[in-house]
Amino acid sequence: MSIQWFPGHMHLTRKAIAERIKDIDVVIELLDARLPGSSSNPLLAGLTGHKPTLKVLNKQDLADPARTPAWLAWYAAQADTGAIALDASDGAPARRLIEGCRQLAPLRKGLSRPMRVLICGIPNVGKSTLINTLSRKSQAKTGDEAGVTKQEQRIVLADDFYLWDTPGMLWPKIIVPESGERLAASGAVGRNAYDEELVALQLLAYLQQHYGAQLLERYKLDLSLEALQALPDDELLEHIARKRGAVMSGGRLNLQKASELVLTDFRGGAIGRITLETPEEFAVWLAAGQAQ
Ligand code: GDP
Repeated sequence: MSIQWFPGHMHLTRKAIAERIKDIDVVIELLDARLPGSSSNPLLAGLTGHKPTLKVLNKQDLADPARTPAWLAWYAAQADTGAIALDASDGAPARRLIEGCRQLAPLRKGLSRPMRVLICGIPNVGKSTLINTLSRKSQAKTGDEAGVTKQEQRIVLADDFYLWDTPGMLWPKIIVPESGERLAASGAVGRNAYDEELVALQLLAYLQQHYGAQLLERYKLDLSLEALQALPDDELLEHIARKRGAVMSGGRLNLQKASELVLTDFRGGAIGRITLETPEEFAVWLAAGQAQ
């Protein structure tokens, strides 16, 4: 069963981007490094008029360090696209963002105005966190400008570099079932749109094959890796429920509770550093989705 989620119209966002984009030199698309393909909104390229785009893979601290470089290379190979990975809550991201944007739109000699950058991202990728970090670090003059709507925020990262936040919501767009599962697992989809047990089972099925050792370690499962990988995913959830004491009165397993536990663990990084898709996997899903 695929997840359907139509949270709302993007009317305001569309309008805001259309109004702002004329003056913009580079678009930053903030992505979740654990699901870069699925956390991208494919409508964005059309909305931004195909401006040069810096893909910023946020939450790299939660993502698989072996997979993030593959995603960075994948994006860097695309025309007018750059990519960096970061952890929005930590460090000093401003310099890397500025450098990444400048590489995409080198300063033209005699350019008399600052570089203007628009930052976009679906909910939960960490846009507020990043903006807060940047605001603190640069002691930015954030806030309203004449003619600028209340929600729209401008951050002066350097004298010659302005970052604009997009007001409105850039909702995720679920284009293939696999992306819906991953967005739900990451917490980017409204809770009412999916069944937690189903999403936990789908997550476990992927983790079993790709992050088995981490599952064994986290849940102290008395299984070999081979036995774990051969286990039907519903039995795996039962194992986890037993180990974590998700049991109802009368001794029946509380699979709902076990599912919530698995999702919370994944979201907080407690199972380990995990990336739920490779560029190649994502390309295969897209191709299969388009062929239908
Ligand atoms: P927004 O909806 O895009 O504005 O997302 P938020 O900034 O509210 O972040 C969503 C959640 O992700 C919050 O719980 C943040 O603390 C967390 N978060 C954001 N960036 C990072 C990051 O780089 N690493 C980790 N571990 N958590 C992050």
